[in-house]
Amino acid sequence: MTRKQKKILIRIAVSAVLLIGAVLIPYEGVWRFLLFLPAYFVIGWDVLWKALRNIAHGQVFDENFLMALATMGAFCTGFFGEGEYPEAVFVMLFYQVGELFQSYAVGKSRKSISALMDIRPDYANVEQDGQLVQVDPEEVAVGDVITIKAGEKVPLDGVVLDGTSMVNTSALTGESVPRQVQPGDDVISGCVNQNGLLRVRVTKAFGESTVSKILDLVENASSKKARAENFITRFARYYTPAVVLCAVALAVIPPLFVGGWAGWVEKALIFLVVSCPCALVISVPLSFFGGIGGASRQGILVKGGNYLEVLADTEIVVFDKTGTLTEGVFNVTAIHPEAYSESGLLELAVLAESYSDHPISRSLKEAYGKELDTARVAQVEELSGRGVRAQIDGKTVCAGNDKLMEEIGVKWHPCHRVGTTVHVAVDGVYIGHIVISDQVKEDAKAAVSALKAQGVKKTVMLTGDAKAVGESVAKDLGLDEVYTQLLPADKVEKVEGLLREKSGKGKLAFVGDGINDAPVLSRADIGIAMGALGSDAAIEAADIVLMDDKPSKIAKAMEISKRTLRIVRQNIVFALGVKLLVLVLTPFGLSNMWEAVFADVGVTVIAIINASRALQVGKK
Ligand code: ADP
Ligand code: MG
Repeated sequence: MTRKQKKILIRIAVSAVLLIGAVLIPYEGVWRFLLFLPAYFVIGWDVLWKALRNIAHGQVFDENFLMALATMGAFCTGFFGEGEYPEAVFVMLFYQVGELFQSYAVGKSRKSISALMDIRPDYANVEQDGQLVQVDPEEVAVGDVITIKAGEKVPLDGVVLDGTSMVNTSALTGESVPRQVQPGDDVISGCVNQNGLLRVRVTKAFGESTVSKILDLVENASSKKARAENFITRFARYYTPAVVLCAVALAVIPPLFVGGWAGWVEKALIFLVVSCPCALVISVPLSFFGGIGGASRQGILVKGGNYLEVLADTEIVVFDKTGTLTEGVFNVTAIHPEAYSESGLLELAVLAESYSDHPISRSLKEAYGKELDTARVAQVEELSGRGVRAQIDGKTVCAGNDKLMEEIGVKWHPCHRVGTTVHVAVDGVYIGHIVISDQVKEDAKAAVSALKAQGVKKTVMLTGDAKAVGESVAKDLGLDEVYTQLLPADKVEKVEGLLREKSGKGKLAFVGDGINDAPVLSRADIGIAMGALGSDAAIEAADIVLMDDKPSKIAKAMEISKRTLRIVRQNIVFALGVKLLVLVLTPFGLSNMWEAVFADVGVTVIAIINASRALQVGKK
């Protein structure tokens, strides 16, 4: 409990005691008024103060105003006849209980998101004059060597130089099984080093590191409001003044005809208390906040409540292949040189690829396994969806698919082996090809069927890879459609075609690993990127990032969004329903102040409890 919450609690207790005392002492008239006054001010002074301050700022109509008006009104009716003093104090009291509850609930969901925030490292150990010194992670430069002891957080992204250890990535990915790392492996900031001592060469400055990126995302998530949230804000802006007008009308117009001023004023006050829109204003954003928090616990980063809404309506899911449905780690299955030796061909290809970050390049480098003399390489050009071109020892070397070979006018020939083929040409002469193959991700098949279970009508794969490879993967996974040999621009076009085809309300999601698919990610209704493997550009262009690269998390994210929206809808219907009922009963004198208080504060509390269920979504 925070200090602010404790203070409210003390005020509630003091006011309650004063109230009971006042009720028990049998004074009448002005004395009775004076008896209840302390109880009222102890509990209500801040609301009155806020209402006054807002009026001074020109923002008249908010919940403070409604509460102040209603309770002061109830107090003043004491001058007319039967004093409503206990009711007035009680309304305030109950309102404060509601506020306390709300601040507690908001604090709790913030905390569970900050459990994720807990990934922020406090220091990094760097070596200075043979000694380890703790410094601010922001002061560490790329290329510095840091030491991470057992139990410490990995402060910056880097590559392990010495040591083996198990690292726990659960704060980032929701994956509870720790991962083994050894020299040469990448470690990302925010993980916890569980047992061994690791020496790591830093590859990214703190501002660029995984931790900073994630914190940025989460901190900005609540600024992207869902449609429902915006609706509620707008609704409250018109609703509150309308209600005040109605209340005034109720207090003034009927008594002109039938008399009985005190009774009508009381009805108007009841009307005011009931109609306070707090239940919605608080619980709707809280539900979205909870949904985002629940998702982040599963390693799904959602950049705003609006994306939960879109995801819940998603009908078509379009996948990229390499790195999204497949591991993006290729094994070399054959090397077929026409000139050169096998190792000579591989070496040329790897040299040409030496500056590329494409999964194919990484895999070829891995297969080559030796240090590269990058001084031999110049003028590297990455031709997305086709391959690479570079100057090696002064000769132009091209490595890539058939499209690239056609483009540069080299006579190539296909391989009898099924697989992704990297053709290599030197100075316009074909020198052979390397066949590589990739593995489908373990959960890819389950991911596709889980999406169907979530109501996705069509699953599509777009790939720049060869027809045979693409089609076999698509068949394996049970995808509805597959389009192969696409350049990045073709992918955008295909997605636009699918967008035109689909029904009005259904949405289209694109899932990519981010190597050259940032344009498609931003073109789709919602872009989902693989976070750990994917490129930074994709993480920026995407609306949802899957930290553990598992496609099955998409269905999970859909489940979370649907549940969050269901909770939001329940709250809207419930809150408006109860209020409407009491509002309708009020003019007929069928409701009293106590019921009004329940209709307001009680509904708010119930709506908040319901909203906090959204946070539990990810737990199972
Ligand atoms: P995907 O659509 O499956 O993600 P890309 O669009 O990244 O694939 O690439 C499409 C195809 O282009 C690859 O299958 C490969 O044949 C070729 N290609 C792309 N980049 C490279 C590269 N760096 N080296 C060799 N071939 C490449
Ligand atoms: Mg790709």
